[in-house]
Amino acid sequence: MTEALFQPIETLPGISKKRAGLYHKIGIMTIYDLLYYLPRDYKDYREPVAVREAVPDQINVIQVMIKNKKNMIYTRSGTQLFLADAEDNEKTPVGIVIFNQRFVFQSLVPGECYIMCGRMIYQQKEHRFVIQNPQILKDAEIPIEAIYPQISGLTSAMIRTNIKACLSILDESGFETLPETIRAACQLMPLIKAFHVMHQPETLEEIEEARRRLAFEEMLRLQCGLHVLKYQSKTQCRYRMQDVAMKPFYDSLPFSLTTAQQKAVQEILMDLKADKPMNRLLQGDVGSGKTAVAAAACYFCIQNNYQCILMAPTEILAEQHFQTLCDFLHPLGISVTLLTGSLKAKEKKERYAAIADGSVKMIVGTHAVFQKAVIYQNPGLVITDEQHRFGVAQRAALAEKGNTPHKLVMSATPIPRTLALMVYGDLDVSVIDVMPNGRLPIKTYAVTGGYRQRVLRFMMQELKQGHQAYIVCPAIDENQASELKSVTAYADQIREQLLSDWQIDILHGQMSPQEKELSMQKFRNHETDVLICTTVVEVGVDVPNATIMIIEDAERFGLSQLHQLRGRVGRGQAQSYCILITEHATQEAKERLRLLSNTTNGFQVAEADLKLRGPGDFFGNIQHGLPPLKLAPMTDTVMLHEVFSAVNQLLSDDPALQKPEHAALYAEILSMFQKQGITELH
Ligand code: ADP
Ligand code: MG
Repeated sequence: MTEALFQPIETLPGISKKRAGLYHKIGIMTIYDLLYYLPRDYKDYREPVAVREAVPDQINVIQVMIKNKKNMIYTRSGTQLFLADAEDNEKTPVGIVIFNQRFVFQSLVPGECYIMCGRMIYQQKEHRFVIQNPQILKDAEIPIEAIYPQISGLTSAMIRTNIKACLSILDESGFETLPETIRAACQLMPLIKAFHVMHQPETLEEIEEARRRLAFEEMLRLQCGLHVLKYQSKTQCRYRMQDVAMKPFYDSLPFSLTTAQQKAVQEILMDLKADKPMNRLLQGDVGSGKTAVAAAACYFCIQNNYQCILMAPTEILAEQHFQTLCDFLHPLGISVTLLTGSLKAKEKKERYAAIADGSVKMIVGTHAVFQKAVIYQNPGLVITDEQHRFGVAQRAALAEKGNTPHKLVMSATPIPRTLALMVYGDLDVSVIDVMPNGRLPIKTYAVTGGYRQRVLRFMMQELKQGHQAYIVCPAIDENQASELKSVTAYADQIREQLLSDWQIDILHGQMSPQEKELSMQKFRNHETDVLICTTVVEVGVDVPNATIMIIEDAERFGLSQLHQLRGRVGRGQAQSYCILITEHATQEAKERLRLLSNTTNGFQVAEADLKLRGPGDFFGNIQHGLPPLKLAPMTDTVMLHEVFSAVNQLLSDDPALQKPEHAALYAEILSMFQKQGITELH
C-alpha cells in the first residue's frame, strides 16, 4: 500500500499535466513530496469578531443573521451584484456584497445565522461595514485553515484540495517512519496524524506537536544518515600503528608546539594506535597552528610505513600545504608530492607512479587526490583541510579510497557547540584553543569611506617597515562588472594613489590556477607589497609578514567570514591590523562590525553570528554540504539531545538500518542524501 504514496504526483485525481508541471518546478515529484509541502501559516476562524471590532480593509470572520436580501442588479460593467442586510448578535448592522456568485447568495436564508469570512470595508456614508464576497463557513468546515506558500499558477485552495487527496492516500497506506519504541520514548505522534494536523488542524496547539514530530524526524534522518555513512569505517581498522620516536620531528620544527598543539597531537596518536579508524575533527582558530599538528600526525604515520594524504579545497591552499610540509618533512628525509588538476600529463604520470609503488609517502593535493587513476599503496591517514568546504559526497568518496583509513579533518571555522554536534555527528573533536606564543591580538577598526586616505597612509607606514598588506576589493556589481575588471580597476586606482612606490598585484577567482599560484608565490616571496584580492584569500593563506588587511564594503560579509579574512594577518610576531571600511552601513551592520572589533576569539564571533543571522544563514555560510534542514530548528538543544539518544538507541540495535521495520526510515534517509548527490550509503 505504501507504493501509492511514492507515485508521481500526476497519478493524483484532479492533477492535470499542466498542474503537475507547476509542482515539478518546485521539486514536488511524488504524492509524498506534496505532503511535505507544509503551510506557512494558519488562519484561525474559530472565533468570529463583533462587527464593530472588525479591522477595516482586512479579512475578518463575523457571525451574522441575514435580515433581508435585495434583488440582483447589474453594474455598468455587467457584473452581477447581490446585496443583503445582516446584523450580528449585538445588533450592529452589516451589509453583504456578493459579485457574480449567484449560488452563494441563493444559499443565504433570511433569519438564519452564518459565519462569514471576507474583506470588510467601512462605508462612511452609511455608517456601517460591508463584507465583500464572503466565504460562508459551515459548522462542519475546518475552523483553522492552512495557508500555503505560493506556487505560481496555483491558488491556496487548489493546493488544499490536492493535499486532501494526498491525505486519504496516506491514510490507506498506514505509512510510518519512526519505530514505535522511539515514538513512545520521545512522545512523538504517528506520522499520519502529524500530516493531518499540519494540513488540517483542529487546534493551534496540536500544530506545534505535529511540527515537532516532523522536525524530530528530519533531524533524526540526518543524524542516522551520517552515522550509517560512517558505520563501515567504525568496524575494523587495517592500519593500526605502533609507537615511534617523535623527537626527530619536534627537533626539526622551527618552534616548539604550544600545549594545545601537543595535546591535539597526543589525542591523534592515541587514535592512530587504536584498533578502530580515527574519525577526528581538529578545530582551531585561524593561525592556531593546525598544520604543524597535521604534520606531526603524518610523520608518525609515515614512520609506520603508511602513506598520508592531505587534501585542501583550493589549489592555492594545496600548494601552500605542500610548501609547509616540505619544510617540515624534507629535512627528515621524507619526500612529498603534490597532486592538482593543473598538472601536465607527464608530471601526473610520474607522480601517480611514485604513489603507486610507495616511494612517495606524503601526498598533498586538491580533489585530484581521489581521482580513479590515483592508486595508493597503503594509505593509512587522510587529512582534509577546511573540511566544511567539502560536501558529504566527497567525504564518502574519500572514505572509499583504501580500506577505511584514519581520518582527520581540520576546520578553522569555529562552530558553536550545538551546531558542531549536528554537522559532525560522531566525530571526536580536538580543539586548539591557544595561539602560538608571542602572537599579538589583531587590532580591528571599523571606519567609514571618509577615512580611506588616512587608512592608506597608515598602510604605507606598515609597508615602509617592510611589512605587506592585503586589500579585499570592493563589492562588484554582478550585473555589469566582472571580477577581473573590478579588481584591476581598483588596483589602478590604488597604484595612482600610492605613486607606484610599491609593488601591487591582484588575485581573484577568475584567474587560472597557475596565475593564482604565481600571484601567491610573489606575495609569499615579498616581491609584492600589496595584494588586492577578492575572498579567494579567505581560507588558510599563510604569509606571516603581512600585517595589515583592509576590507572594503565590509558590511556585505558575515561575521564569521570577516573573521576568516582577518585571520590572514596576525600570523607573525609583529602587531597586525584589520581595517573594515563601510560606506552605507545600517545600524545593524555597524553593530556587527563593532562586535568584531571587540573580540578576536573565533568561537565568540561564531556565536554572535549565529545569534544575528540565525542557523540557516550561518550554515549557508559555512557550506557544510549537508542536506538542508527545513523544519528542525538547529538551535533547539533539547531536541538535538533527544535525537542523539534516539539515534543511539536505533543504531545500537540495527547499526546499518537493515531490519525490515527500519526500511521506511532507511529509504527516507537515502532520499534525503540523494538530493545531495549521494546514491549509496554502503
Ligand atoms: P592554521 O591553524 O590557521 O592552519 P597554521 O598551521 O597555518 O595555522 O599556522 C599559522 C602560523 O603559525 C604558521 O606560520 C606556523 O608556522 C606558525 N606556528 C604554528 N605553530 C606554532 C608555534 N607553536 N609557535 C610559533 N609559531 C607557530
Ligand atoms: Mg590552515
